[in-house]
Amino acid sequence: MNAGNCNPIPRISTEPSKKKENSVSAPQWSLPKKHYLSDSHIPTRVITCFECDTQNTIPQTALSAHCVRCGSYIKIDKVILGPRSHRTITKTWGDVHVLANSFLDNYKIHCQNLLLEGKISGDFQCANRCIIKCDQHFHGKVSCHTLAIMKKVKVITSQPITTTNAHVFGNLQGDITATGTVIIHKTGQILGDITADRVEIEEGGVHHGNKVYTRKY
Ligand SMILES: [Zn+2]
Repeated sequence: MNAGNCNPIPRISTEPSKKKENSVSAPQWSLPKKHYLSDSHIPTRVITCFECDTQNTIPQTALSAHCVRCGSYIKIDKVILGPRSHRTITKTWGDVHVLANSFLDNYKIHCQNLLLEGKISGDFQCANRCIIKCDQHFHGKVSCHTLAIMKKVKVITSQPITTTNAHVFGNLQGDITATGTVIIHKTGQILGDITADRVEIEEGGVHHGNKVYTRKY
């Protein structure tokens, strides 16, 4: 008879409880593997949920996110729209690039930076830059933080473009409303009304239309 069987020694595990590990909830965002929680001082950015407008703080390098309030998926990655694109609504906190030789009509875009190398019309809302490198005829609402109409590019707009600052190197036919500064560079032309805090016209730059200053003294 073995004495060990009569008085079994209780087994004590020094490993942490698995239950405790499982109780840690998954983060609302995903990161590239090499950065995953390796640094507690990850730079962050604030993005607004497209569904419920809640502000979400996410790491700069996040690839996707889910809203902390409503749980809906928030797109962060870059979107490329080309001649064969059929996605007429694009909402991302990444950049959108419209490729050359595109002729896209009635699109709705909400993005960080918008680069137009092809033709597109619709409603565009950019949190940062909107760079126009190709002739455009806008029918919808265009708003951004910084507008750049590049050299030899002609933009016709039926509604005022809303921006903070604008750099016009090309030709704008239509009105512009800026809360900051509108600069007409030496190759630039605006045929339309400018509402802005400040307007700078370089030598050679042309403006035909009214200027309304919003700055309060
Ligand atoms: Zn939400």
